Amino acid sequence: MLDLNQNIQFVKGVGEVRAKQLAKMGIYTLLDLITYYPREYENRTNIKEIKDFVLGENVLFKARVVGKIVTRRIRKNLTIHSFYVGDSTGNIKITVFNQNYLRNTIHEGDEYAFYGKVEGNILKYEMNSPEIVDIGKMYSISGIRPVYPLVKGITNNYVISLMKKYVNDKLQLEEIFSNEFLAKYKLEEINKAVCDIHFPNNFADIEKARKRHIFEELYLIELALMSIKESNIKLNGIKFENVDVTEFMEQIPFELTNAQKNCLNEILQDMNSTRVMNRLVQGDVGSGKTIIAALAMYIAAKNGYQAAMMAPTTILATQHYYDLSKIFNKLGIKVDIITGKTTKKGKTEIVERLKNREIDILFGTHAILEDNVEFNKLGLVVTDEQHRFGVKQRMKLTNKSENVDTLVMTATPIPRTLALTLYSDLDISIIDELPKGRKPIKTNAVFVNESMEDRINLFISKQLDSGRQAYIVCPLIEETEDSDLTAATELYEKYKNDTFKKYNVGFLHGKMKNKEKDEIMQKFKNKEVDLLVSTTVIEVGVNVPNATIMVIEDAERFGLAALHQLRGRVGRGEHESFCVLKTRSKSKTSLSRLKIMESSNNGFVIAEKDLELRGPGDFFGIRQHGLPEFKLANLLKDMDLLKLAIDAAKETLKDDPKLEKEQNKNLKNMLNTKFGEALNNINN
Ligand code: ADP
Ligand code: MG
Repeated sequence: MLDLNQNIQFVKGVGEVRAKQLAKMGIYTLLDLITYYPREYENRTNIKEIKDFVLGENVLFKARVVGKIVTRRIRKNLTIHSFYVGDSTGNIKITVFNQNYLRNTIHEGDEYAFYGKVEGNILKYEMNSPEIVDIGKMYSISGIRPVYPLVKGITNNYVISLMKKYVNDKLQLEEIFSNEFLAKYKLEEINKAVCDIHFPNNFADIEKARKRHIFEELYLIELALMSIKESNIKLNGIKFENVDVTEFMEQIPFELTNAQKNCLNEILQDMNSTRVMNRLVQGDVGSGKTIIAALAMYIAAKNGYQAAMMAPTTILATQHYYDLSKIFNKLGIKVDIITGKTTKKGKTEIVERLKNREIDILFGTHAILEDNVEFNKLGLVVTDEQHRFGVKQRMKLTNKSENVDTLVMTATPIPRTLALTLYSDLDISIIDELPKGRKPIKTNAVFVNESMEDRINLFISKQLDSGRQAYIVCPLIEETEDSDLTAATELYEKYKNDTFKKYNVGFLHGKMKNKEKDEIMQKFKNKEVDLLVSTTVIEVGVNVPNATIMVIEDAERFGLAALHQLRGRVGRGEHESFCVLKTRSKSKTSLSRLKIMESSNNGFVIAEKDLELRGPGDFFGIRQHGLPEFKLANLLKDMDLLKLAIDAAKETLKDDPKLEKEQNKNLKNMLNTKFGEALNNINN
């Protein structure tokens, strides 16, 4: 039998060079090859007559060679052969390059089948390098042809020829579903589904095959997420006692919004029960998630437990530490912080104090979990800005063997139905209300020329004069792009020494040492810096309520969801706030896309519009959403299949919670291959 785990390099017709190219397509084994699915299909099912040709179209047709083959040698490596072919309705000139063997295989007067693109003009059709076969072999270039996503050096025909060797009726993949299951959900059997997705006989075959594969992708991830949840439910959690939070509330200058109160209640219910909490708090930027996390940690501390709060960057961790320690210090709660920059000595001390219970709440980056930082009595872990991490990382976190409560916070603006299904391992609380009195951020998307530039800068000065602060954000998407960094640096120099020399101008970018970043951020918070030129490192949750204006340079380079996140850094206090989206791009669509930001302040609405404009591929492809990536499934288009997959996964787990039944053996293996150690429910 075929060894599907065979290294692709040793598959006949591959070899070392090709294997390297295939690796770029994610193909390392024979199984990877077979499950590398077409992006689309070429419809070569209709044979066209020459009179019906349309310029620019790809056509399949039959024709006779109606004249001599003319060969011209242009230079050493270039020979051109051209000849006319025709059917009863017209003629077309065919040109082929170099393929000298054609001189012996193509004969005047004989009939052949061709496939290629119609070029030339309506008076004289031409076709360059078509596929040509004897009329009796037309089947080999006709039909429905798969089109694969390719990399340099690999042609579609090459992939097809490899596939043809293995994807045929000898294929023997193991079916993970029982016959009853296949019948119940009307799914194609795996080997047929694989054959049909590569080499379908008709378009209905493709639909059935795709349905099977998409269902499988969605079903497997749901099954994994649900079984994680299942195993967490069974754990014995800490039962925290109710705590009077009056003293805490006295420290903050506002009342909680109703949405915050509801969210807090849901958290408290989890904490009060013996269940282990695994809750996601989803709320738009500025909805006030931090204070909710602080309250939960306060309750844990008052119960005699320790808590940890993790953030994806040092800046953000440090900010939480500074902001919340002001409150906690007054309440006698001992806090500290550990980040990647903490010295070895500093760390040893903190670990010592943690063990001795001299720290109640520890802030930090993910270094907290990974570097054997041991707590004395850990009861609650909060992760902020969870969407910065991938699905597998999340699984790891929610699937830890300890029975501490977990709270994850995210500002991911995705439609609710999607959130509910893709976070099946978590319970969800939604904060769908901004604090009262928040004025919407006035946003303007503008095409900048010099006079516009002056107007914007004047406006910034006015804000600064009235005591407010400003952000100037430069695109530096990859923090390694040197030219971007140079541009940002130049802008900073210009503002500092010229345009805004009256004010204190600061500069923040990702290549700075964490300590420097923290210092600048701290200065901005303390109002020692009025205007902060920054790259996107400020994207995550930085909070300076006195900052009221944000100018984003070359805004067309960002996705709308990212712009919304960025913009959320202003409009956090009592003053009216502004966001200016600058673009120098002459493209009309750039500006009209940015204009969407003027009309909405709602992250969910913006996300949906962004989705419409850029398509789900781009939208879901970006990592910041923390959603799983699929080979074929499209979370928007395949919503119905997603629902079906969820029902099916629920039923499977109900019937066989640990997947111990014989009929689920292959399914269990598949889950372990895909999600591995994350699944201790079914493995213990
Ligand atoms: P995010 O949800 O984006 O993390 P934050 O928790 O940083 O938002 O809160 C944004 C700002 O709103 C902070 O300055 C915070 O103190 C303030 N805030 C939070 N809740 C309220 C409230 N109920 N009323 C007024 N201001 C609030
Ligand atoms: Mg936040």
